[in-house]
Amino acid sequence: MSAEQQGQKFLASVEHYFDKAAALTDHPSGLLNQIKHCNSVYSFTYPVRKGDGYETITAWRAEHSHHKLPVKGGIRYSIEASEDEVVALATLMTYKCAIVDVPFGGAKGAVKIDPKNFSEEELQRITRRYTTELIKKNFIGPAVDVPAPDYGTGAREMAWIADTYLAFNGEQIDALGCVTGKSVAQGGIRGRTEATGLGVFYGLREACENAEDMKELGLEKGISGKRVVVQGLGNVGYYAAKFCQEGGAVLVGFSEFEGAISDPGGIEIDKLMEHRRDTGSILNYPGATNLDTREDGLELECDILIPAALENQITRENASRIKAKLIGEAANGPITAPAEDILETMGIMVVPDVYINAGGVTVSYFEWLKNLSHVRFGRMGKRFEAGAYEKILNVISTKTGKEVTQKEYESIARGAGEKDLVYSGLEETMINSYQQIREIWKSKDKVPNLRTAAFINSIDKIALCYLELGIFP
Ligand code: NAD
Repeated sequence: MSAEQQGQKFLASVEHYFDKAAALTDHPSGLLNQIKHCNSVYSFTYPVRKGDGYETITAWRAEHSHHKLPVKGGIRYSIEASEDEVVALATLMTYKCAIVDVPFGGAKGAVKIDPKNFSEEELQRITRRYTTELIKKNFIGPAVDVPAPDYGTGAREMAWIADTYLAFNGEQIDALGCVTGKSVAQGGIRGRTEATGLGVFYGLREACENAEDMKELGLEKGISGKRVVVQGLGNVGYYAAKFCQEGGAVLVGFSEFEGAISDPGGIEIDKLMEHRRDTGSILNYPGATNLDTREDGLELECDILIPAALENQITRENASRIKAKLIGEAANGPITAPAEDILETMGIMVVPDVYINAGGVTVSYFEWLKNLSHVRFGRMGKRFEAGAYEKILNVISTKTGKEVTQKEYESIARGAGEKDLVYSGLEETMINSYQQIREIWKSKDKVPNLRTAAFINSIDKIALCYLELGIFP
């Protein structure tokens, strides 16, 4: 299937999920259409010097919904990118932001390249020119459109984008807020790198905390001891795996570009990454079995499957062979709409992408706030808090006559630093949002699953913005 067909399939799935949820709301059809359709797409090409010649680069930026500004969404570097894919991803961003109460509209960008085919210098040229094109059309800026990392991009590309934007807009005091996912030295925030994977863990942990739901899946309450398989060991997959392991889950299988491995006894994630760095592959990891194909990884016996690579991975073709009881969609759109119907008849619970991978945009929101406020979170209060706790401990010690040990002082009398606050804000967001969508799933008539509940939740929130403006009486 061509990249364009893959993109069409993805967009069709997202629109199908929207229609399914919209039918369960009582908003007027004009309003639902306004929410559904993408507001603007900028599609462009530009030349970049490569070796002795030039290469023409195809790129996009889609802004799905301007109901709140700025719009926000990652930039993907992928040879499989297409316009429909970018629109589908921008659409998901709108709903995602609404679900986790991040006050942004949705956007997404893509550059149609395989980054492995370009040198660092060439990638820098591609990124800076992409940014310049966005500046020319007012598709970037702290108040209008704020990109972030996605598949194939990271802090390095975000630094190039910020630097290019600043070169053109040096007089804007909030210019650094034009992009998130920057390194801390470039104005980023502690905790952003791992935010999406950490959010996936918080979301899955919350889902597993509900004894009733777990019983329906034939599982015990709690994430501890759950057997987990992860597809894709990039930013999202690695951190999701790492935090799940730290939370007591057992990582029994992995699938990457080069193949898949399994070990029912558990695989140490950091040792596996070290093995991959040394050998260039996850295959032949000591104690693990190599599977025939990378797709076989998705079909391993496990409790939780975390697809964290790309869209359209679980399809009509392989859905019936999935053995997981719970799927956490860390990637965007890994399950196609027909596949979801099959999984539902098999009794498999899906925690949808629009909720579970929202940790990245949540912490991006914190980074944007930090850039606008020009101060590190925790800087003003950390010492004061630590001093206050110390005074309380001293009073308790004096009143009770019991000495507080140094260890107790260190664990109690400390103020929250930036990372503590980011983790705490993210945890609160993921727990609250899960409870909101589960409540809709369980209490509203005819809501079949968490995905439809999540879409209803976002449609209602976005509709309210328009209704309060009196645009759709
Ligand atoms: P990444 O580029 O860091 O990692 C993706 C990994 O998947 C790579 O290691 C790649 O080799 C692997 N992969 C690709 N195709 C595969 C296949 N067929 N089978 C197995 N492995 C495969 O990308 P990322 O930032 O981790 O993003 C992964 C997914 O998560 C994407 O769908 C992205 O849109 C979504 N997402 C990312 C973020 C973020 O903050 N980075 C936030 C929300 C959602």
